[in-house]
Amino acid sequence: MEAKDIEYFKHLLIQKRKEMQNHMDAITESERETTIKDASGDHSAFSFHMADQGTDTMEREKNFFYAQRDGKILAHIERALDRIERGEYGKCRACGEQIAFARLEAVPHATLCIQCKSNQEKTPDMLQDQGETV
Ligand SMILES: [Zn+2]
Repeated sequence: MEAKDIEYFKHLLIQKRKEMQNHMDAITESERETTIKDASGDHSAFSFHMADQGTDTMEREKNFFYAQRDGKILAHIERALDRIERGEYGKCRACGEQIAFARLEAVPHATLCIQCKSNQEKTPDMLQDQGETV
């Protein structure tokens, strides 16, 4: 991969990391607001709020799910940036071939080429040593 392409993907990854961090901050923020609201002790019209509470819980669970997912993607992005530093970026970790530009553009933290990715989806064990039974 050419240096200018590496530079391009590095930029993409850093931007994506910022997006993820902002998103996670936003979640933490709304989480904090919910907690403050809960702790404010304002339980007048409690029964009236019961309906809202369900939504809050769902909202919180959803946020938790997103935060978890974002955290995972963040870790992938960190590792991709690591690979850039080591000069290993854009190589498929299964077959060692160059991952297609368009694929990296769509998923800059991808570690498998499209071929290996679809193989992996068919046989999830493929990348484990004992998995080559097919
Ligand atoms: Zn591959």
